[in-house]
Amino acid sequence: MNERMEQLPMIPLRGLHVFPDMVLNFDLERPLSIAAMNAAMDGDRRIYLLCQSDPEAEEPEESELFKVGTVAEIRQILRIPGGGVRVLVKGMYRAELRRVLEHIPYYRAEVRQQEEQESAESPGYREALIRRTRGLMAHLTELLPENHPDFLGGIAGHHSPGYIADYLGQTLRLMPEDRQQLLDEAEPVRRLELLDEMLTHEIAVLEVEEQIQRKTQGRLAAAQREGILREQMRTIQMELGMDEEQEAASEMDEYTERIDALEASDEVKDKLRKELNRLARQGFASSEAAVLRTWLDTVLGLPWNVETEDCYNVEQTRRILDEDHYGLEKVKERILEFVAVRQLAPDLKGTILCLVGPPGTGKTSIGKSIARALGRKLGRISLGGIHDEAEIRGHRKTYVGAMPGRIMTAVAQAGSRNPVLLLDEIDKLGSDYRGDPSAAMLEALDSEQNSSFRDHYLEVPFDLSDVLFITTANTTGTIPRPLMDRMEIIELSSYTDEEKLHIAKDHLLPKQRKRHGLKARELRIGDTAIREIISGWTEESGVRMLERELAAVCRKAAMRLVEGDSKSVGVKASDLEKFLGVRRYKPEEKRLEPAVGLARGLAWTSVGGVTLDVEVNVMEGTGRLELTGNLGKVMQESAQAGLSYIRSRAAILGIDPEFYRKKDIHIHFPEGGVPKDGPSAGITITLAMISALTGAPLRGDLAMTGEITLRGRILAIGGLKEKTMAALRAGVKTVLIPAENEADLAEIDPDVRGALQFITARHIDDVLHTALDFTGIQPWKPEEKQPEAPAPVQEREGRNDQPRPTVS
Ligand code: ADP
Repeated sequence: MNERMEQLPMIPLRGLHVFPDMVLNFDLERPLSIAAMNAAMDGDRRIYLLCQSDPEAEEPEESELFKVGTVAEIRQILRIPGGGVRVLVKGMYRAELRRVLEHIPYYRAEVRQQEEQESAESPGYREALIRRTRGLMAHLTELLPENHPDFLGGIAGHHSPGYIADYLGQTLRLMPEDRQQLLDEAEPVRRLELLDEMLTHEIAVLEVEEQIQRKTQGRLAAAQREGILREQMRTIQMELGMDEEQEAASEMDEYTERIDALEASDEVKDKLRKELNRLARQGFASSEAAVLRTWLDTVLGLPWNVETEDCYNVEQTRRILDEDHYGLEKVKERILEFVAVRQLAPDLKGTILCLVGPPGTGKTSIGKSIARALGRKLGRISLGGIHDEAEIRGHRKTYVGAMPGRIMTAVAQAGSRNPVLLLDEIDKLGSDYRGDPSAAMLEALDSEQNSSFRDHYLEVPFDLSDVLFITTANTTGTIPRPLMDRMEIIELSSYTDEEKLHIAKDHLLPKQRKRHGLKARELRIGDTAIREIISGWTEESGVRMLERELAAVCRKAAMRLVEGDSKSVGVKASDLEKFLGVRRYKPEEKRLEPAVGLARGLAWTSVGGVTLDVEVNVMEGTGRLELTGNLGKVMQESAQAGLSYIRSRAAILGIDPEFYRKKDIHIHFPEGGVPKDGPSAGITITLAMISALTGAPLRGDLAMTGEITLRGRILAIGGLKEKTMAALRAGVKTVLIPAENEADLAEIDPDVRGALQFITARHIDDVLHTALDFTGIQPWKPEEKQPEAPAPVQEREGRNDQPRPTVS
């Protein structure tokens, strides 16, 4: 993780801290905070949360803020009666406030991500420290009143001092200054030490308190105490009495009216009336009353009968999709087919579209355009990293801070019962002991069941059968099977630089200009400059970073226009560093020279294609095959298969047939931090091994992909389109692919196809001479033996003496 600077909307918090990895909810009331939250929701949902050093300040200055806060992801928001918003966030990482950039219409801050620093302490010391913390916590919980959270349960199974300190920093009742101290400390071990100091102090104070309490309690008999308390309560109730009764009656009337006016089923209305009666019985001032009131407001606020009229019109949809998006012809065609079917059969329900492709390729924005074309409202739910069924389907309202699940929250926010619900990152839905969220998802998506979807919080059924669900994913590989079976998959792929240029010119730049209040003539960016931004400041399959960089150019341009006297800003390629800071990606060092034991493979990842080098070293040894670079099982087996093939062909390849006994082979994939798997590197590994064993250099301007069998047959692979784009980016001229994939070449972007030469192969034998250069390589020859006196032992070893065909 690099220490990076970034600019984010910020919410100053009063007396509240959010630690990394912690999930919690809180209410926002200040308009500035709500505006910042909205800005984050429009962006990537990340927000910078920073505690005020002066909790009184309404609009704190920089000096009234602490210096270290947390970048968090907004998981869920819920409007609460009275104009406030309840947000659920998860802390991501610590970040230091560099400066506040602006505070109208909301705070925006430049922050620097803080890395968790490595500690110099030994693992033994860390373990001891963690044990001590657990001990202190056990002691502390004995001293606390009964209904405290389960602190020890929360840290059970964790062995990271940083996490434990953060967890306890979040959950224990600490002074804001102490919490801040824990947040300031980026070194995990030091942080836990600090927390231990606080715990020790707290325990000492509690022990003294307990002594005092025991003394006083002794004097006051239990029954006596209860009597006094009851008496006090009665007096207080009488004091408040009259006004409250009147208020309660009018509130009751108001709710009754709203329930009567509601256009919902009898079941729903009966339930509402029942809960209203409970509220009346509870007394309007009790703590349960607050829970019931929020529940009533939430249920009454749902769009029970608000419906938008659908507009299924292929022509209009085509116009809107074209207006919002460049290219994507196949995707648009599929969507138009879907609209055409609906146009003919409007009552056909249950189609779920799933847009699959690398990040930033326009999945979400296609979803939005579909909603616009159909005239439906839009709700968005991000499913990434949800492990808990309750996040989809809500917690029972008896839980503290319970809310409806994300689906019903999104419906409420969309404000109609037939919105388009955009479910982002359905491939990242997890499941663990807290229940399987995919089961709840399935129930919501399945048209057979979703006409009476029950959220745990709402308890009443809601009809989701008119909702149009559109899901997005980076890969279909991790989408739970039953969900996938119900979806229509539409694939989006990486953009070429040429496509990116068009998207930037026709869509991203006009959009950003408008957002920054700039007219077209006030900011001009030439094509060369845009190309330069693409190659020097972004490295991605989609156009998300590109859009961000263009936004940065717009901000700088706006500044110049406001400050200076020029009427327009022109951005040339040579100016870019002034606008965007130093170039982030240097033109790649293109390795195109032949090399021994080094092959360039092509791999598919959920964020697009990449080139993947394989290095092989052969050393004197005992026949060990070593594989490093974070390889999965399938990839390891590919290497084994390649090795078997080479052994069976050693003679023909001019390799000592005994190599597998006398040599150690080490196969390594650089970038060991990235897990790699799949069979498609088979050919790459095998050719690199042959090169290392024979000493014949492998062509550097060649990239390859293909599964290999034990006998050297080359089998088809997936993801050809993304892989070929990666090859082009790496400056490769020739790509070796399985003959079985030849038909897929038609799918490849014509620009990419034109720039590359393809070699197709069925068998590895067919490409040995294309890929490797055997000029001047002496094939292995058995050592000359004296034929006259073959000792019996030598005879056994004499298998090597066979004359071998060689590679010419
Ligand atoms: P995804 O959901 O696939 O991660 P987004 O829909 O968020 O990507 O796209 C990122 C940005 O790029 C959005 O502003 C989107 O409008 C824009 N964009 C992506 N593809 C295109 C395209 N083909 N034409 C115009 N704009 C595009």
